[in-house]
Order: sequence, then structure tokens, then C-alpha cells
Amino acid sequence: MHSRMVIAIDGFSSCGKSTVAKAIAKRLGIKYIDSGAMYRAVTLYFMRNDVPIPDPEELVDFPFDFIPVLNNIQITFQVNPETGLSEVYLNGENVEHSIRTMEINERVSHVSAIKSVRKKMVELQQQEGVQGGLVMDGRDIGTTVFPHADLKIFMKADPMIRAERRYKELLAKGVDISMEDVISNVVGRDYEDSHREESPLRKADDAIVLDNTHLNQAEQVDFVVKEIEKLKVGC
Ligand code: C5P
Repeated sequence: MHSRMVIAIDGFSSCGKSTVAKAIAKRLGIKYIDSGAMYRAVTLYFMRNDVPIPDPEELVDFPFDFIPVLNNIQITFQVNPETGLSEVYLNGENVEHSIRTMEINERVSHVSAIKSVRKKMVELQQQEGVQGGLVMDGRDIGTTVFPHADLKIFMKADPMIRAERRYKELLAKGVDISMEDVISNVVGRDYEDSHREESPLRKADDAIVLDNTHLNQAEQVDFVVKEIEKLKVGC
């Protein structure tokens, strides 16, 4: 049963969704897809090609047709044989590292609010799930992409703890940034992701909340594994 299971993990920025999702995918031997990486890759393409990015208040009636641009964007995933994890490719280029910068962090929520961008990404994400056997993390996976997912987890944690985790991650990567900038990005993205018109971030009614403010990684994975076990008992 596990090999066909679709698991949706949604939640706020820097909650550790991808860490939990990867661990669960590995444990069940199923595919993991990071839907945020897809929005990040589109943002990278927009920035490299000077595509205008509307501010939230400009979104309605923005005088630009994004569809021809989106038709030039191909996003694919390939498993890295060394790590066993899937990595994102933009028009054939591995962009797994180039999409995780502060410049992308600052613009991705504006790009992901564009209706035609979301339509294209949701279609691609749904294709990834056609065969089942998938853990996908994001903001609207349980509400829009896979409303019939076998299991939906909604992750949250205290914003200061999340900002602190992200700050440490960025410092470890050698990024020169202040804690204030990290807090403002994390809180700002949460606000924009939750208040946009198109499939905003919200907990699906049937999602199970995982508040990981005081949980380590192993405890979070155990929490999800227990929920999977409950499904097995129920079927
Ligand atoms: O998960 P991550 O922080 O990499 O996502 C980057 C951004 O992509 C989010 O802040 C959000 O704007 C957008 N996103 C989205 N829907 C998803 C996944 C990510 O709108 N399913």
C-alpha cells in the first residue's frame, strides 16, 4: 500500500517540511518532490530574463502576458545518484543550488501569486502524482494539488524558531545576512502566501497539524510514521 501512497505536507516557510518529507519518502521507498523548488525555478528564470514581477497590489490587471514566457520554461526532476534525492532542473540545467538564495527568497512569493504560473505548476505537480507513490511538500498540496491525498500533514512552528533555523542554515552556507532580514523574509512570505487570491496557504480541513516548535527531526518523522501506521490499520 505504501508504494502507491500520496502524502501532502504543507505549512509555513522554514518549518522543516522538506527534511521531514525526504525522510518519509526514503522510509517508504517512494518519490519526493519539492513543489517550492518549482516556483523558485520559475522565479530564477524570470530574474535571469528580466520578466516583470508584479508586487501583490499590482497583480490584478498587470499588463503582461506570462503565458508565452511560461511556454519557454521546462521544469523537470532527476534523482541525484549520490544522494538518492530528486533535484530540480530548469530547461535542462540543474538549479538546485541557484534557487536557494536571498534574491530568490525575496521574489518567489510574488511570482507564485501569478495565476498562470500556479496553473502550470499545479498541472506539472499533478502529473508527478499520477502513478501514486509520492511525498510532495508545499503550500497548497493538500488543498489544491492533491485534495484526495492519502495523508495530509500541516506543519507549523513558532516564527522566531523558524527564522533562527533558517538563519543558521544561511550562515552555514556562508551567506552574509542579518537575523532581522531573515525574520522579515520568513514573516513576509508567510503573509503573502496566506493572503494571495490563488490557492493561498491554508490547512486543509482533513490535514493533521504537526507543530514542531519543540520537536527534533526524529520526533517529527516518528509523528508522521505513526499517522501512516494508523492509515494501514484503517484499510
Ligand atoms: O517551500 P519553499 O520555501 O521553497 O517555497 C518557496 C515559495 O514558493 C513559497 O514562499 C511560496 O510562495 C511558493 N510556493 C507556493 N506553493 C507551493 C510551494 C511553494 O506558492 N506549493
